[in-house]
Amino acid sequence: AQTLVWDTEKLLEQDLAHLLHPVTNLHRHRQSGPIVLVEGKGSRVRDTTGKWYLDGFAGLWNVNVGHGRSELAEVAREQMARLAFQPTFFGLATPPVIELAVKLSELLPHHSHFQFTSGGAESNETAIKIARYYWSLSGRPQKTKILSRRMAYHGIAMGSLAATGVPAYHADFGPLAPGFIYASAPLAYRNNPGLSEAEFVAMLAAELEEIIQREGAETIAAFIGEPVQGAGGVVPPPKGYWQAITPILKKHQILLIADEVITGFGRTGQMFAQQTYGFQADITSFAKGITSGYIPLGGVGVTREIFEVLATPDRMFMHGFTYSGHPVACAVGLANIAILERERLWENAAVRGEQLLRRLQELETHPFVGNVRGKGLMAALEVVEDKASKKTFDPARGIGGKLQAASRKRGLIARCNDTGFAVAPPLIISEAEVDEMVNILAESLDEVL
Ligand code: PLP
Repeated sequence: AQTLVWDTEKLLEQDLAHLLHPVTNLHRHRQSGPIVLVEGKGSRVRDTTGKWYLDGFAGLWNVNVGHGRSELAEVAREQMARLAFQPTFFGLATPPVIELAVKLSELLPHHSHFQFTSGGAESNETAIKIARYYWSLSGRPQKTKILSRRMAYHGIAMGSLAATGVPAYHADFGPLAPGFIYASAPLAYRNNPGLSEAEFVAMLAAELEEIIQREGAETIAAFIGEPVQGAGGVVPPPKGYWQAITPILKKHQILLIADEVITGFGRTGQMFAQQTYGFQADITSFAKGITSGYIPLGGVGVTREIFEVLATPDRMFMHGFTYSGHPVACAVGLANIAILERERLWENAAVRGEQLLRRLQELETHPFVGNVRGKGLMAALEVVEDKASKKTFDPARGIGGKLQAASRKRGLIARCNDTGFAVAPPLIISEAEVDEMVNILAESLDEVL
């Protein structure tokens, strides 16, 4: 194999001169510079200097099958050489797109039809527009509002941004798209006023009813929710949450959009979190793990009932992206799902997820650890300045940057911010690697706080 030599200094200089990094403090980046990653194997990635890191965040919650799967590269190469691109517009198709839709209809049998995109935000835009289109074609064009939740993360395009419930993503990007409303996040640590878990669920259900009454069910198209909230802070719902929410939505004829962009393809211990939590959405959006990040791909699935309305005789469905079904991406998606199934990686996610949560919970005795939570291989550790009041640290203290530096120094890439750590490693992670990850997090915490 070819050995490549990287000029770290030059890459650093060029990065600072020309790369506009997303979700990065651009001012601080000028001081810290990039880590430039060049190679990956399993749960680890290597930078230009030869240093290896445990990829505690699986890229961006997406490299589910781990790094270095050359069979995925081979599948992409073959499809590119055979037929690199044809659209799915105007009734055209290619075999990998059709085969992937068939595969997904087997994995999500409550959905009959699928449309593809290039990522999560595009998938949620598609889901939101399908919900509105469905009601418009059903003779109820006034049902347009989208009911989301605080702490939700649905992407940064204008519709998905408005559905996102994390204020930092909204600031200075206004005006936001109108017609979005928010319920509480099902986060017991912050929102449960001392009730039992069942009473907390009842409280959230009552709030939902109250919002629907206030707004008018006849104005609401859909409720969008991540089965486990992810980027907003990893919030596994309390027991019975989805069972309490779904009948309320059904009663008021509000479609349920499950955003499985992170939770899909094994992360919560089943192939989809709708199986983990025992509910079925009208529309499911997905991305990330469908190709384990080897190539961009996302999409949505809809029920047969929705499809039948969309397939009205006298209208074209005027929605779609150039890459609504890229044949190379779909071929990689199929091969990636084959790996997930062959190695039953959702089972490892369940087992290693329990270990991860147990090990993180040991850190709850730390004087500044306020809360630990997780489901499968997604978990968060929240730090607070004061455990009694749950007060968060002043951003001026730069806790996030310090935790990031401390953990990277020790060879771990995790998501760090002023409220703590989030981790979501590849689903292939080993027992020893989970221990290594938590040990580094513990040492980093001790160094910074
Ligand atoms: N939905 C969820 C639940 C996500 O976590 C993300 C990204 O992290 C998105 C949507 C947006 O996906 P993308 O960044 O591919 O647009």
